[in-house]
Amino acid sequence: MRISELLKERLTLSFEVFPPKEDKPLEPLLNTLEHLYQFSPDFISCTYGAGGSNAGRNTEICENIKHSGKTTPITHFTCINSSKKEINEMLNAYLDMGIDHILALRGDIPKGYDGTNGEFTYANELIRFIKERHPQFCVAMSGVPEKHIESPTFEEDITHLRIKQDCGGEYIMTQLCHDVEQYERWVEKIRKAGIYVPIVAGVMPVLTKDAVIRMAVMNGCSIPRDLSEIIGRYGENPEDFKKAGKEYTVKQIHKYINAGINGLHIYSLNKHQDVEDILGMASITHEGKKELK
Ligand code: FAD
Repeated sequence: MRISELLKERLTLSFEVFPPKEDKPLEPLLNTLEHLYQFSPDFISCTYGAGGSNAGRNTEICENIKHSGKTTPITHFTCINSSKKEINEMLNAYLDMGIDHILALRGDIPKGYDGTNGEFTYANELIRFIKERHPQFCVAMSGVPEKHIESPTFEEDITHLRIKQDCGGEYIMTQLCHDVEQYERWVEKIRKAGIYVPIVAGVMPVLTKDAVIRMAVMNGCSIPRDLSEIIGRYGENPEDFKKAGKEYTVKQIHKYINAGINGLHIYSLNKHQDVEDILGMASITHEGKKELK
């Protein structure tokens, strides 16, 4: 079943993985995937290197997930550095591999660029192109509950999200947002703006102080008071930080589920043990996501 349809029926569980660098072995990620499959995820998404870097590894991973027969692979895809012809070739390559689910993104503008250096400027153009040329793709789009870092106002960002829906975006996958109350306010605003598609909320496990701060700064997302207390109290003690961070992540998962999300998407960071610990603590078990249904 298409993920966009499944999301209308029940809460989904899914994971994000990223491809290893070209010179690193694939086995650790393949091992991670085996562990993640035990949760019967509804899909696993694989990131796409900025500017198409490491795209080869992205297809290798997506193909591997497809061949496992265990779940649906979703490829992330950006339009940085790409002509329409190149994008079309990649889309055909995915379809030839049986990969028909895609998260269509603009991508971050690399340092030194003043645009995408490609034929598309924004994700909505990519979404329209995919839908016109290859309507068999189920297309997800990104949404940013704290507004995209480049966007001057919430209103403009929401207008652009609406355009992505109108171009054929079938559901939203959200950017990291630790502040679930802010997520709820954003949902209210986007629904008022006529954005009706299902929402898959991304949850980033809180595991190390540096990563939490780096990712928050990179994405322009806030660090709520309870998270900053964990940083203040345990920041110099990695073990205690991780323990408190996992407990914090479990609370986030429950808050998001209570907020009425359509899908729970865990950014696995390719770390299966931490993900297993967190889902276990959240009572989301190997035996078919009991608590989610
Ligand atoms: P857009 O939707 O195009 O928005 C970018 C900015 O332009 C926003 O400020 C928006 O308000 C504005 N805008 C949009 N449309 C218009 C318009 N028509 N006119 C004027 N302004 C407009 N990056 C990667 O490189 N690889 C990945 O695998 C990856 N995975 C991601 C997964 C998720 C779930 C998310 C949320 C993000 C991911 N990213 C990834 C990051 C993403 O590429 C960046 O956030 C990027 O800066 C914006 O991409 P977008 O698709 O949201 O862009």
